[in-house]
Amino acid sequence: MTSTPRGFEFDVVGARSALALFGALDRARLSHGYLFTGPAGVGKKTFARRLAQSLLCETPKLTLLGYCNHCTGCTLFVAGTHPDFVASDGVVKIGKEAGSALHDEELTARDLVRELSLHGYRSDHRVVLLGDVEFATHEAANALLKFFEEPPAGVIVILTTNASGTLLPTIRSRFVEVPFGVLTGDEVARILEREGIPAKRARIAADASLGSITRAREVLDGDETGLRGASFAWFGETMAGQVADHGFLRLDDRSLSAGEKRALVAEMLEVVRIAARDWAVLALGGKDAPLLAPDQKKLLASVPKRKPEDVVALLAAVADVAKLSESNVSAGLVVDYLRMQLAPRPKPA
Ligand SMILES: [Zn+2]
Repeated sequence: MTSTPRGFEFDVVGARSALALFGALDRARLSHGYLFTGPAGVGKKTFARRLAQSLLCETPKLTLLGYCNHCTGCTLFVAGTHPDFVASDGVVKIGKEAGSALHDEELTARDLVRELSLHGYRSDHRVVLLGDVEFATHEAANALLKFFEEPPAGVIVILTTNASGTLLPTIRSRFVEVPFGVLTGDEVARILEREGIPAKRARIAADASLGSITRAREVLDGDETGLRGASFAWFGETMAGQVADHGFLRLDDRSLSAGEKRALVAEMLEVVRIAARDWAVLALGGKDAPLLAPDQKKLLASVPKRKPEDVVALLAAVADVAKLSESNVSAGLVVDYLRMQLAPRPKPA
């Protein structure tokens, strides 16, 4: 919990670097663009919305962060009808003229440029939040870059992504990047309890969450077909030399964009990193060492052990694959490469 002036709140969990950054800023020193990066389910969009409400709150305050929850600005914001807040999730396409079919909820780059060129209706600020942003084409990204050549006063753009390597360097360089780390188990448990989950179940889900509220909810839903469970199973089978099915990554699903596939693979890679780390702890004899994913201990303990030097090499290889996935290499190749790194070497004849 952060310190806000009396009568104001700023309700986020975790988000330490973002709190440090924005807590030390005033409105005059705000940048035009922020890029919130970090794994899925650690509060990037929640923080962005709280920040937007803080900027659109009409009750005077000395700090940047904090909202009163009862002024007209706050009321409109909470109702989802504030004219100076625009939020959209997912793919940004260049526009209807490009010929591709668009869903109603999709924001086009043309919409975006129009939104960005408007001054605030009620407020001095206008906040545009593009959550889990991906640009369908370079043209769509360039529309945003044009805005940064001459940003209108008061407009603030916040992008969030869990696959920042997929954004053009020209986009990244124009935004102030704010990293979001994983949540602690206690923080995940606290969020779940606040949502009415009994303390004991919240604790179990938090222990299995790897610091992501999204994964904690998957665990609560018993969703072992979800990405987390499937990734652990894939790790176990691949390490045992089997050809594990990676259908859960939906690489052949044409309804998903390349960016969405990358995001799925990035999330799977995080799980595999945790799995490899916990397996290494168990393989090197740390039977009682605390695991990052204690709920997967049985599966990980059943994965064949390897020589210490091979364990170390495997951890390094997994870290390399994570780096590779941040580049422009296709999601399918990243998975193939990871499989090669994990599979046991054939025994010499
Ligand atoms: Zn307010």
